[in-house]
Amino acid sequence: MRRTEEDLRSTLSRIDGRGYPAYRDLRGSWMLPQFTLEVRHVQGDPFAAPSRVAVILDPDRAGFDPKTLSNASRRTAISCLLARKFAHRARATRARRTGSGRSGEVTMLEPGQVVLPNTAVLIGSDGSVEARFTIGLPAAGRRILGRQATTLLLETLPALVARTLVCGAHSPVQLNRHAEVNEDADHMRAQLGKFGLVAFIANGSLLPRRSGIDDRSLKDNRAVLFNSPPSLEVTLERLNSPPLAGMGIPRGVSLLVGGGYHGKSTVLDAVAQGVYNHRPGDGREWVVTDPTATKIQAEDGRSVAGVDISPFISTLPGGQDTTCFTTTNASGSTSQAAGIIEALEAGSRLLLIDEDTSATNFMIRDRRMQALIKGDDEPITPFIDRVQSLYRDAGASTLLVIGGSGDYLDVADLVLGMVRYEAHDLTAEARSVAAAHPTGRAVHGAPATWPWRHRCPDARSIRPWRGRKQSHIKVPSRAAVEFGNDRIDLTGIRQIALRAQARAIALSLAHLQQFMGAGMAVEDILEAMRTLLESEGLDALEPARTGDLAMPRTQEIAATLARLRTLTLTGAQS
Ligand code: ADP
Ligand code: MG
Repeated sequence: MRRTEEDLRSTLSRIDGRGYPAYRDLRGSWMLPQFTLEVRHVQGDPFAAPSRVAVILDPDRAGFDPKTLSNASRRTAISCLLARKFAHRARATRARRTGSGRSGEVTMLEPGQVVLPNTAVLIGSDGSVEARFTIGLPAAGRRILGRQATTLLLETLPALVARTLVCGAHSPVQLNRHAEVNEDADHMRAQLGKFGLVAFIANGSLLPRRSGIDDRSLKDNRAVLFNSPPSLEVTLERLNSPPLAGMGIPRGVSLLVGGGYHGKSTVLDAVAQGVYNHRPGDGREWVVTDPTATKIQAEDGRSVAGVDISPFISTLPGGQDTTCFTTTNASGSTSQAAGIIEALEAGSRLLLIDEDTSATNFMIRDRRMQALIKGDDEPITPFIDRVQSLYRDAGASTLLVIGGSGDYLDVADLVLGMVRYEAHDLTAEARSVAAAHPTGRAVHGAPATWPWRHRCPDARSIRPWRGRKQSHIKVPSRAAVEFGNDRIDLTGIRQIALRAQARAIALSLAHLQQFMGAGMAVEDILEAMRTLLESEGLDALEPARTGDLAMPRTQEIAATLARLRTLTLTGAQS
């Protein structure tokens, strides 16, 4: 049955003044003149989580030029632009709220600075647009305000759609810019391998952020724009604009050195976020990083499930086996060692480490400490003695911020100095310093054997249920997931950019269970998940087709799984 605008109008006037549950009559599709409205879930009362609706525009109504949307990269960029604009304008409706609780509130996922496939706005290859958001259906107490609902659904909403979701709402210049910048960023990232690079920062990039909790760029006039040292300059091609020069960070072991507060961590964080594309105007549009790059930090207190940390740590007191290390309460050093092995397991080819968030005893043990604590009593082989082998034998490069320990100069292929926010190539100088001042420290530990031992998780240890509820998955913030009775702390997983990604990750964990057949190793399970997301998209995670998911990386799914406190293994194989 086709229900029209007239039907919606009369339904709303019929239920006007009745109890809130009568709003259930709105469920299903309505063919409005401008778009199809789908009411997918009706809230129980005005104070509950608002109702979930979708607006669907056919290609003619949306009106986008097929050229603008000619590939997935362009469609993702435009979808983020529409979502950002819709979310922004919708906020204005909240000011005009009518009624109790969340009456009149229209809310859409905010995509932030990153450009990621999401379920708030989906653009089909045919140019159709589906926007998903929530609406607080108006009521006074628990009594339906039919007239307000009519205004909201038949006036406010069509106006909002016309100003945000159709081609005519945007200038052609803006649309092209968003599509082209995203396509170019993908294209540049794809060239890293050819040049032997792990990351690229274009000249003119604006790296610092407004604050520790505000991801937008620092205001122009206060920032020093990035400029490559001549020796590291590389030029990458773009499809839609002239080539762009900037600093290429080659594979291998690279150090970021410099005085405190001179911009080291800012560069490292920009590289860490360079696994994602950014919106035009962000300042980091042309910072692109190997898509597998993983930031690692010490995280004492986290749980670890059967990780082979023996390349870094052997013979713990009490004889605990470090080839299959399990704990509910890791130390700084064991957590950092586990983080590195887990990242390798998840396919990382670039490790990003900041001394600010590292365990000192994991990073270095100097000559005096070596003299005081003899080899046999020290289980840790510090990172400095493994970082070269990680690259040569395990294929993982490292970019490391280190201001405190010059011992690292011995193991660096490249030394980048940050001086008053300006980058300098100090490699040659560092070599002569290292030659003039030998550290006298001995290399610790026998050569490491990579790869690590494969882990096979037990499907029964994935427990999304709580009490009689089959699935309790809540994501109160970007940094926390409630998964069944477990609460997973994501603070240390620095490359989760959005809460919507954390939601998708939490739902992915429940899905991983189905892949955990006999003898499936973590790598295989992650690969199966990646294939599922790539072929079916985020909707594969949730039959309810909500609008609050954004695409996560395999690395963050792996890192979250690793922090699940219930996780156990069926056995490990070499
Ligand atoms: P470090 O890690 O060397 O101690 P940070 O990267 O934390 O330094 O930077 C210190 C401060 O300087 C931060 O507040 C940061 O936002 C700011 N900052 C970093 N880079 C720039 C820049 N290029 N221009 C202006 N301010 C910057
Ligand atoms: Mg720092």
